[in-house]
Amino acid sequence: MKIENPNPMQWRFAERAEQLQSSFIREILKITQQPEIISFAGGLPSPATFPIDEMKLAFDKVLSNSGKVALQYGPTDGYLPLRQWIADSLSANGVKIVPEQVLMTSGSQQALDLLGKVLIDEGSRVLVETPSYLGALQAFSVYRPEFVSVDTDENGLVPESLDQVAQGARLLYALPNFQNPTGRTLSLERRHQLVETCARLGLPLIEDDPYGALSYKGAPLPKMVAMNPDGVIYMGSFSKVLTPGIRLGYVVAPLPLVRRLELAKQAADLHTSQLTQMVVHEVIKDGFLDRHIPQIRSLYGDQCQCMLDAMAQHFPSSVTWTKPEGGMFIWVTLPKHINAMALLDEAIANKVAFVPGSPFYANAPETNTLRLSFVTVSPERIRTGIEILGKLIAAKI
Ligand code: PMP
Repeated sequence: MKIENPNPMQWRFAERAEQLQSSFIREILKITQQPEIISFAGGLPSPATFPIDEMKLAFDKVLSNSGKVALQYGPTDGYLPLRQWIADSLSANGVKIVPEQVLMTSGSQQALDLLGKVLIDEGSRVLVETPSYLGALQAFSVYRPEFVSVDTDENGLVPESLDQVAQGARLLYALPNFQNPTGRTLSLERRHQLVETCARLGLPLIEDDPYGALSYKGAPLPKMVAMNPDGVIYMGSFSKVLTPGIRLGYVVAPLPLVRRLELAKQAADLHTSQLTQMVVHEVIKDGFLDRHIPQIRSLYGDQCQCMLDAMAQHFPSSVTWTKPEGGMFIWVTLPKHINAMALLDEAIANKVAFVPGSPFYANAPETNTLRLSFVTVSPERIRTGIEILGKLIAAKI
């Protein structure tokens, strides 16, 4: 028997649920997934790099040899051999940590949510870069902080500007390598300065580093967590070096904090899929990433150069842009009077898409900025798309 609802249900949402907003990027992606659109909007890694065969073999091996463990509930902190692998690999990069400090998460996006849950009260001051990763702003927003935007320039976050704003702040969220959205890298000198300043101010520093391994040339700069493991919370991810669909990330923190994060994770989802963790460990345990990552770097480096060359050829001289040394994004600054949201409407009408910069600002958006991603578009389409964009911009100057 079907129950009649004489009055339509009036949902009363929790105040925190009123804060929830769909990411602007996810909204644009719905439009830009149409194949005729040349989309520089996505933040997606290139599927050409996904190790499908290796994953297939590993799934088979794990299920055949350890199926009963892989398909069972697992520990909240994660699969120990994988946490050991992460601790060893970070230690090889100068970060002296033990596996107990590693908490596996369902994508590093979950680590952002857990950090918000454990560190942010309503009204807490949370320091973020200008601009910052939209997904972090979204994750933290649920806990209703007061975002404070910290100055940045072409070398990343400006440590000197912290002193004025850090008083009483709960944390600083920083993206030192090939930042999303700007593609900028925090210089070595600034890394030291930032770590020292945060230590002096007693300010927890979150180092979000999903792109760190993707430098086009040369070794990545030292991680800030290596400079002060007691004051820096490090976040890593397998999304950009293996595949994002497996949703596997991790957070490394001093023990008292990591135990709190573990409790928060237990309440959220008990644990991250044991099967996935075991498969990833099977794939990477014998040095696979040392062979695989150089291929991703070289593909992304070539695509980035292709876009930079096309921009130099087709963009008017009053437009400026970043020259990333790794990662997936270029950040464009248009003349002040051009609104990137309005430009997007015209671009979509001309079958090109990008992400306007405004949503990446926690405060005071600069409306003349935009983000371009080059990794999932072929060189030929990069050239065509940039030429179209260049013409649309030139018509507004
Ligand atoms: N941090 C940054 C800076 C990102 O760009 C992303 C993904 N776009 C994430 C965290 C989350 O990645 P994941 O959950 O796939 O590990």
